[in-house]
Amino acid sequence: MKIESMRNLFFEQIQDLYDAEKRLTKALPELADASTSAELRGAFESHLIETQGQIIRLERIIQELGEGSNATTCDAIKGLIKEGDSMISRTDKSPLRDAGLIAAANRVEHYEIAAYGSARAFAQTLGMDRAVALLEETLKEEKAADQKLTKIAESIVNDQARQFVCR
Ligand code: FE
Ligand code: ZN
Ligand code: FE
Repeated sequence: MKIESMRNLFFEQIQDLYDAEKRLTKALPELADASTSAELRGAFESHLIETQGQIIRLERIIQELGEGSNATTCDAIKGLIKEGDSMISRTDKSPLRDAGLIAAANRVEHYEIAAYGSARAFAQTLGMDRAVALLEETLKEEKAADQKLTKIAESIVNDQARQFVCR
């Protein structure tokens, strides 16, 4: 579909995020299962619950826009999930893997922070106050998830990973 208006552009961004979040609901349980640290597993599991809520927010925005669903593939998230999968297949279950999973997951959260920030700005420009509020809620969750992962890495996992030797 050709993008010819700010509204089209906003819709495209929302559709991209919708595809991204749906892919993440499949990836997050795999990241949780692959984690050694109980805290990291818990972080992935609670972000999965948040992600399910984020999908509902995007559906509300799509409804408000009143356009038929126009499936988009988020190639970037597809690629970032692939990097996470590759980290799992190239490591044993260990703190070293945990450190790698956090590095992969931080990349995802930063992508989402950028995307939700742009989408919120577009909604503001379009005067879509309800959408602005919904996107703001999700943006806060993504920032908190990013910080939580970083804290787990810096307070526990990275030190454990440094001491880990695969034998
Ligand atoms: Fe998300
Ligand atoms: Zn994307
Ligand atoms: Fe996220």
